[in-house]
Amino acid sequence: MIVLVRLDVAPRMELMGDSAVLHWGDETFKIPRLKHGILFVMSGYIGSQLYGCEYKVHLDYMRGRIVNRSILDGLIEHSRQLGVDEEGLGIELGWNPVLINRGEEGVYFFNERMRNWIGYADFSKPYIQEASLVMVRRDIPILGLPDLVINVDGKPAYIIELKTTGGPRRTRSLMTRELLQAESYYHMMRYLGLDPKGVAVVKIVRGTDFRIIDNMELIIKYMENGDDDLVMLTSNVALHKIKVRSFDDFLKDVDYALDYWLGLRNPRPNPSRRLCSSCEHRKRCPYSAVK
Ligand code: SF4
Repeated sequence: MIVLVRLDVAPRMELMGDSAVLHWGDETFKIPRLKHGILFVMSGYIGSQLYGCEYKVHLDYMRGRIVNRSILDGLIEHSRQLGVDEEGLGIELGWNPVLINRGEEGVYFFNERMRNWIGYADFSKPYIQEASLVMVRRDIPILGLPDLVINVDGKPAYIIELKTTGGPRRTRSLMTRELLQAESYYHMMRYLGLDPKGVAVVKIVRGTDFRIIDNMELIIKYMENGDDDLVMLTSNVALHKIKVRSFDDFLKDVDYALDYWLGLRNPRPNPSRRLCSSCEHRKRCPYSAVK
């Protein structure tokens, strides 16, 4: 992989007729033609493709996604937890086409996210919300958006991914795809020349009194001490520390996921009662375990 990564300058995407390029410092990558016309891959897709249901990702692009009340409540809770503006979430209840990484909307979204480029962040602050990370693999940009990076001694130290749930029981379980999403941020930061010390997923019941950005010291304390993978910060908030795999293992998963976007293989269905019962495509999906 020969990529001259630049931390001091954010990459920028440009549409050129039917195709698109990524400018990054002195380099220009011609983005290959990808399935469903996407221009970049969100790093969270990799875990969903491998450990959720890839066929659902495929149908999301073919048919759209349903935004329901709990998705909207989760976004609002994210905003409250991270202290960011919830204006402009830009999604509505019901069926929504996936535009985030396609066409002009995709280019706009990508370039707007570069305002929060990790290389422009002030690491002397206690934390950074929603920084943008990019890596390039097989000329395909991969965009990662970790919820929180906690700085210690003027350096980015701990990456926190926030997941919201409806009740306390669910805070204790961590899905493999959630683990992979958090791990992707760790590897992407190292790819960019940064040296984070650890990564965790915080699972939190929506509406609880606890607020992550008011409890930085507590989170740092548990990230720095103790071997437990799971720490209950309150009865409604669980901290799952991630044991990060090697970069090579991560890249194998990335390449498997990219093979689908490059059209080198078909999407893989992963039907189960657990996944299908919460899937909006279950009535039409030929593989559904719950019709
Ligand atoms: S219904 Fe089941 S198999 Fe079909 S896309 Fe949804 S999760 Fe996958």
